[in-house]
Amino acid sequence: MDNCSVCKSTSLSRLEDEVLLSYKNTDIPITIKYSTCDSCHREFISTSQILENDAVARNAKKSHDGLMTAVEIKSAREKIGITQEEASLIFGGGRNAFSKYERSEVSQSLSMDNLIKICLKYPGILKELASQKGVSIKDMSLVSEDNVIPYETFKAANQAKYESHPIDSPEEIIYG
Ligand SMILES: [Zn+2]
Repeated sequence: MDNCSVCKSTSLSRLEDEVLLSYKNTDIPITIKYSTCDSCHREFISTSQILENDAVARNAKKSHDGLMTAVEIKSAREKIGITQEEASLIFGGGRNAFSKYERSEVSQSLSMDNLIKICLKYPGILKELASQKGVSIKDMSLVSEDNVIPYETFKAANQAKYESHPIDSPEEIIYG
């Protein structure tokens, strides 16, 4: 529980402010959190808010660099249908890597980011990596970026008309 470091009051107002984060010659607007003490009116950033602000800044930098944010990593992992431990086994980075990425405690490397994106796009590579580490991938049909149907599934569903009828959207393959 946060309290005022001067008067120890736990009656705090939690506020937000937009600031500019200078990163690689760019000013990125981010929202940071801070508190004011309702008793002595001192303004401060609590330990938990420092951690949250750090995470916000880290995600802003990652976005700027074209890396997946913490939320995007989590959603990629859930799309694949594996636990954080399994993801660390398959992709590397150490036992707690994905737990740290998803809490935005550390940033994944560019090569890690690339590997995850490649695996989302090409389930065959993911399957190969997973089987090397003894991890089973449950439903491969879920594994594809932006819900693009993997080529094999696409072709199988359209065997007769594949050559002559280009498909405009993945929905047509399923419902059409
Ligand atoms: Zn106070």
